[in-house]
Amino acid sequence: MELTKLEKDGLDVIETIIDKYSKEGWQSIEPSDLDRFKWAGIYQQRPKDGHFMMRVRIPGGVLSHEQADALAGIAEDYGRDLIDVTTRQAIQYHWLTVESLPDIFERLASVGLSSFEACGDCPRTIVGNPLAGIDPHEVLDTRPIVAELEKFFLGNRDFSNLPRKYKMSISANVYNTGHAQINDLAFTPARKTINGKEEIGFHVWVGGGLSTKPHMARQLDVFCLPEDVVRVAAGVTTIFRDFGYRHKRTHARLKYLVADWGPEKFCEELVRVTGELQSRGEDLIRGWNAGYFYGIHEQKQKGLYYAGLSVPVGRMNAAEMRELARLAREYGDGTIGTCNSQNVLIRQIPADKVEAFKEESLIVNRFRLTPNTFVGYAVSCTGIEYCNLAVVETKERMRALAEYLDETVELDTPLRIHMVGCPNSCGQHQIADIGLQGALVRTPDGMVDAFDVHVGGTLEGEARFNRKLKIRVDVNRLGPFLAQLIGAYKEERLEGET
Ligand code: SF4
Repeated sequence: MELTKLEKDGLDVIETIIDKYSKEGWQSIEPSDLDRFKWAGIYQQRPKDGHFMMRVRIPGGVLSHEQADALAGIAEDYGRDLIDVTTRQAIQYHWLTVESLPDIFERLASVGLSSFEACGDCPRTIVGNPLAGIDPHEVLDTRPIVAELEKFFLGNRDFSNLPRKYKMSISANVYNTGHAQINDLAFTPARKTINGKEEIGFHVWVGGGLSTKPHMARQLDVFCLPEDVVRVAAGVTTIFRDFGYRHKRTHARLKYLVADWGPEKFCEELVRVTGELQSRGEDLIRGWNAGYFYGIHEQKQKGLYYAGLSVPVGRMNAAEMRELARLAREYGDGTIGTCNSQNVLIRQIPADKVEAFKEESLIVNRFRLTPNTFVGYAVSCTGIEYCNLAVVETKERMRALAEYLDETVELDTPLRIHMVGCPNSCGQHQIADIGLQGALVRTPDGMVDAFDVHVGGTLEGEARFNRKLKIRVDVNRLGPFLAQLIGAYKEERLEGET
């Protein structure tokens, strides 16, 4: 892959797609360019028969109703009416053909969206706070900073050949909506008195990531003012580009460099690259909301409310996306939030419209304000339906499993179950209360789908990844097994224990 990147920059494939491959068809695509398709935000779908999946960046998880309508139109015309919200607040399509890509690129650009660098060894979708600007729990509005970061990094050829994928998060919400610890680079809210003046800014974390060997990010001894975020982000990314490991793809994420250097050495190098930096201040993180916002809640603006809606396992069709756009227009200020829990928000609803909003058919029947316990907290990756790396099917299975648990188990507290089809962890199973990782198991009837079961993951407080139980459960027994496991938790838990 390193040679492929040196021969031709990943971003150059976009022009080749438009000028050549979209006209000559998928069989004309050079194998090395197929690898570079990721820089256009595109992967081959399973089976490799000329269909593609695409991710669209939703920076910070805030999109407009015009953008939502455009996204729905693309799904209708090219994506077989399927839209997924990902665990990085992006939108994912399937079933695209190479012939459709130029039109899709244009349609996205016409509403200020892009799929470029949503995949590949480059700065990917910047995750953040989908409530930015209206959030009663934020210490500042991060939307302008997200926009600046996006402007700086997207298409920037200084950073389009990194050793591996590179994930950034920025949130000023005190409940860590950006999942800071699992990102390569993250900014979390902080306060510091500088020259007698109290300043609000960020602490800086580096080297987090999931995949097969998960690492929690380490906090640097840095306090960063809002106006310095781009400078610091450029510095960290420069270090990754120049010192990150490129020998083995399995050892190339920033987390390995940070693990070897430690935060002190990393910080010294960062100062060398960016110039002087303030040392750490007071951390303003107060907990972790896991990206869930269900229900109607007051905003920081008096008299206005936001609505957190459940999208079961993040999957919707184009008509539902259009309906979200209409609700955002008619009830809110026209903006929609996408959450890393694969759910959505409608923002800025005046008090006198709240009751009518609650009665809308989409809200009553599909994207509920108060979903059932298990459906509401179920997350799933793409799985074998479309993903070439998957061992088992996930999306439908996770939805059916959550429904089964809602029918059979009563629980008075949210319990997050994440299902993934392989160890790569696109469904972030290592931070779930119960993480289910797809595998196979031998039975008298042959190999059958099964799941490894991991328990106890959280980013709350002293964050920890979940631990694997010494058991692999045949998929046909998974529901009853989990019902029993959750029953044991209910009986044995201490007060407040998750
Ligand atoms: Fe595919 Fe594995 Fe990612 Fe699921 S976790 S989408 S199976 S690569």
